[in-house]
Amino acid sequence: MKILVQKFGGTSVATLESMKMVRGKVVDGLQRGNKVIAVLSARAGDTNRLLALADEWSPAPDKAECDALVSTGEQVSISLFTMLLKDAGISARSLLGWQIPVTTDDDFGRARIRAIDSGRLRELFHRYDVLVVAGFQGSTADGRITTLGRGGSDTSAVALAAALDSAECEIYTDVDGVYTTDPNICSTARKMDRVAYDEMLEMASMGAKVLHIRSVEFAKKYKVPVHVRSTFSDDPGTLVTQEDPSMEAVLVSGIAYDKDQARVTLRDVPDVPGMAAAVFGPLSERGVLVDMIVQNTSQDGHTDMTFTITRKDLPQTLE
Ligand code: ADP
Ligand code: ASP
Ligand code: MG
Repeated sequence: MKILVQKFGGTSVATLESMKMVRGKVVDGLQRGNKVIAVLSARAGDTNRLLALADEWSPAPDKAECDALVSTGEQVSISLFTMLLKDAGISARSLLGWQIPVTTDDDFGRARIRAIDSGRLRELFHRYDVLVVAGFQGSTADGRITTLGRGGSDTSAVALAAALDSAECEIYTDVDGVYTTDPNICSTARKMDRVAYDEMLEMASMGAKVLHIRSVEFAKKYKVPVHVRSTFSDDPGTLVTQEDPSMEAVLVSGIAYDKDQARVTLRDVPDVPGMAAAVFGPLSERGVLVDMIVQNTSQDGHTDMTFTITRKDLPQTLE
């Protein structure tokens, strides 16, 4: 049984019209002789709307309840899409993370996938040609719903492809591949035919949101070729894959940016052993991820210490 994993992002599933384009891509996958797992994101804007609701209701929304709430965006898109498939005579059913299950740790809001029951999915393919899976979500060993972090549907898709030995994972989005930088910001960005896992990891870690960083980590670890392409065209897209000799010659392959950053500077910090631990220890205990750290040379036994964090962690960090 050949199983193809195809993932469709928020803009691809936003409207009835775009979902029909998605159906076209799934039919194409079937016609190429595959059973298909279609991993869907929430419809564009839905996840933001749900997060805003949580913030309206509570000054510090409970993380586990927040995951139970935001994961519903994907429940909407998978059920609507499965209706479309069935109306076209395709045998399909939808599956939430816990119904597979996709088991994760309990780090709510940015959970990591621990295991996927691929046996159950293979069994379901005896009855269905297409399984429509909710991206971005899983459940803990004791049955609580988790989410994998913003953009996490890419990771759901690549993890499923790895678990099912899929020959390739197709990531369909609103651009037709990976560019040298964000094509929506820079009109002279060039599309790349191939990108090595390590280069893609670097770009994703710096904010190129076309692929969720953990999806690239999974792809590299399990050697899953990832094919980034557009839902709205038939262009060949970009293959994210192992490095080959022709790719090694490239010195700079892309530029990434991230607008979601905050920079904090502590002035006049005593330059004594243990000071860095005293600053970063409490941040780490609260789960604040510190990215870049710069410390000036010491003057009169004092120094400035600058570091970057994601913007949402700023209030906690200042506290
Ligand atoms: P989806 O909802 O399909 O997951 P995303 O919005 O998460 O789509 O990712 C696609 C977006 O990533 C593009 O619309 C583009 O603006 C942005 N992007 C940032 N850097 C790049 C890049 N180097 N190449 C292509 N797209 C990029
Ligand atoms: N719906 C989630 C988000 O908006 C996951 C995803 O789109 O990949 O972040
Ligand atoms: Mg995305």
